[in-house]
Amino acid sequence: MTQHEASSRSGEQPQPAEGAGPSDGVRPGGEAVPDGLWTKCSECGEMLYQPEALDELYVCRHCGHHKRLTARERIAITADAESFQEHDAGMRSSDPLGFPGYRDKLGEDEARTGLREARVWGECAVEGMPTVLAVMDFSFRGGSMGSVVGEKFARAAERAIERRVPLLVFACSGGARMQEGIVSLLQMAKTTAVVSRMARERVAFIAVYTDPLTAGVFASFASVADVAIAEQNALIGFAGPRVIEKAFNIKLPPGSHTAEFQSEHGMLDMVVPRRGLRPLLVRLLRMLSPDSEEGIE
Ligand SMILES: [Zn+2]
Repeated sequence: MTQHEASSRSGEQPQPAEGAGPSDGVRPGGEAVPDGLWTKCSECGEMLYQPEALDELYVCRHCGHHKRLTARERIAITADAESFQEHDAGMRSSDPLGFPGYRDKLGEDEARTGLREARVWGECAVEGMPTVLAVMDFSFRGGSMGSVVGEKFARAAERAIERRVPLLVFACSGGARMQEGIVSLLQMAKTTAVVSRMARERVAFIAVYTDPLTAGVFASFASVADVAIAEQNALIGFAGPRVIEKAFNIKLPPGSHTAEFQSEHGMLDMVVPRRGLRPLLVRLLRMLSPDSEEGIE
């Protein structure tokens, strides 16, 4: 059973394809094809054959656009097939502030994404190496960090310490979960505290910044990883570019919030295209696993 089959069997609803429009289902040239087989690249508008999407790592073969991935898609292209064992899959927010309309919004996102929260974590193998994997999903409440997202990160880190295996995190987020107020902000302290414990215990933490990564999540656990990698063209920054331009009445330089810009200014270790990401992670996991004989050069 593939990861995709696993996720659909666990009740995940299929996501609307990025850039899907009324012309979907028509092969270039006008020939009709079954629904869902073709989708349009949101960047260049070329038609993409959906059954090949996983093999292509959801990268447009025409223009190289990296589609924003759901947590399930990310796990499918990262973990060895059938190796991912999810933990705390049913954990839900308790709506600690009784925020008006919050429960309804959570319910809507649950129905649309098949997820219970904006982070999925579990244990898996990557090229045979045991790894604790935690993946954020922007399609659930904009990947915002509330109590469950923070708690799942802390549990993943504690599991990595307990098993003495590296923690691999894919981070994307719009920031703190406003509907959880101070409880949301407390997650910043909790997650950075557990990262400090990982450092003391000498257990490696690798963070991959994916599109988009901003605000409290960028500023808390993601920025204190041992190795910080970004996926090509990801939007990365503390405050979004429009917010800064409005607040200070200035014009930002072009590309100021790209992974490449952050890398040039020392905020990242490296930027890689999706195609190169897994081979890089395999190499890092090999070097950073506690029983590694390869070591860091
Ligand atoms: Zn394209």
